[in-house]
Amino acid sequence: MSIDDPLTAISSRAAHALKGRFVGTVLAPGDDGYDSASVPLSPAGRPGFVARAETPTDVVEAIRFAREERVPISVRSGGHSAGQWDTAPDGFLLDLSGMNTIEVLSDGLVRLGTGAVWGDVARALKNHGLALTSGDTTSVGVGGLTLGGGIGWMVRKYGLALDNLVQAEVVTAAGEIVTASPFEQSELFWALRGGGGNFGVVTHFTFRAHPLTTVHAGPINYHVEDLAPLLRGWRDVMRSAPEELNTTFLAVPSFGPEMPASTQILVCFADSDEAAAEAAVEPLRRLLGARDADIREKDYVDVLEDPKPAEAPLTIVANNGFAPDFSDDAIDVIARVQRELGGVLMIRSLRGAFNRVSADETAFGFRDSEMLVISAAFLPPDAPASATDWVRTLWAEVSPFLTGSYGNFLSGSDEHAIAAMFPPATRARLAAAKHRYDPQNLFSQNQNIAPVST
Ligand SMILES: Cc1cc2nc3c(=O)[nH]c(=O)nc-3n(C[C@H](O)[C@H](O)[C@H](O)COP(=O)(O)OP(=O)(O)OC[C@H]3O[C@@H](n4cnc5c(N)ncnc54)[C@H](O)[C@@H]3O)c2cc1C
Repeated sequence: MSIDDPLTAISSRAAHALKGRFVGTVLAPGDDGYDSASVPLSPAGRPGFVARAETPTDVVEAIRFAREERVPISVRSGGHSAGQWDTAPDGFLLDLSGMNTIEVLSDGLVRLGTGAVWGDVARALKNHGLALTSGDTTSVGVGGLTLGGGIGWMVRKYGLALDNLVQAEVVTAAGEIVTASPFEQSELFWALRGGGGNFGVVTHFTFRAHPLTTVHAGPINYHVEDLAPLLRGWRDVMRSAPEELNTTFLAVPSFGPEMPASTQILVCFADSDEAAAEAAVEPLRRLLGARDADIREKDYVDVLEDPKPAEAPLTIVANNGFAPDFSDDAIDVIARVQRELGGVLMIRSLRGAFNRVSADETAFGFRDSEMLVISAAFLPPDAPASATDWVRTLWAEVSPFLTGSYGNFLSGSDEHAIAAMFPPATRARLAAAKHRYDPQNLFSQNQNIAPVST
């Protein structure tokens, strides 16, 4: 962008105006740190400027500024969203990564700044004999994961990350700092738990953590030609397994000699009891095609990982959906489609605490699901549109066995994506909550719920 570009001039003026009201840093194009703070996740490009908040009052100022100046605002915590909505070149990015405090309160309550990342949270809680179920990755942020769900290594035992939320500190579109909980602003509290960044900017989350010392975790490797019998065996084991046993089925194609193809069941038994862990895992070791396993006692933090970035540029066509019943018919179709697609197939077992939350208790739908099925097909960057259509057509064969989609794994924010993320009743209630808390749709750079008055 050249200095004569009108956008640069507007950005610099706007950034300067906000700077005077801000404790944190405001970075305009050309400032040291702007480039690294504004990594362009979106093809739309970089934001006009970046406001790095340090305090809830900074967030208030940023929101007031966005409203008064009519400048689009996007919000980022850990910066891991798959979407392309969180960079508005004609607007600014409110970067919350610096608000990353981790405080252990009394009675297992834990207060987290939205910018904390789950690896740091797990490490800090370990020293108190506590843990929170989150996701599988260290560098994912508390903010985005929690507001969208949070399917982690203890989902069967403790539900989603958002199911363990007891209170949130929120700056509303009106620029007020409020507490949302079952007792205050309860409709806002409902909407935040699944409705994403539509309803305000959350600055702090208070969770109820769970006592945990160590877990037993690692992969079991299989060699099978046909995934279907193995998937059936895995499903049957999981249907009667204790809820401490959380597993993910993972089939990965070869990515070159260093990364051969693999078929694994990834295990996390969320308890330190070795005999109980072995008893729960043993049926998985006996499934068809089982080769070897590397399940060990470890700290929960060591179960979380960071994926290696792909070396070759590839176009990823990702799909996901919830399976209410992981039936034999569903398995047969999934196995066949996977054989043809040849990409990554990941299936997360959900049965347990996830199902015991009623459909209207949070804004996260599809509580009757048994599994979350995720597929990522890889195409060369120059693949024609017909290749993407081929993937979509194949995936459509799986669709009759699935309902909805997990928004945190969706890269889309169009009507198709939003419709998949929420059952109709949840969507309607979210639209009414949006009208109540953000009638002007100030928070629109997200998987957006349009406000609807009732
Ligand atoms: C490598 C990788 C592994 C993953 N593994 C898992 C997993 O195991 N389980 C799982 O459930 N998910 C997983 N995810 C998905 C993850 O939950 C989402 O990408 C999530 O949005 C990331 O949160 P973030 O804070 O890092 O992202 P951000 O990009 O910072 O936030 C995502 C969106 O949330 C909103 N938002 C964020 N913070 C706030 C806030 N404080 N107030 C208001 N709105 C806000 C904004 O709209 C923002 O665009 C994974 C993602 C990646 C990239």
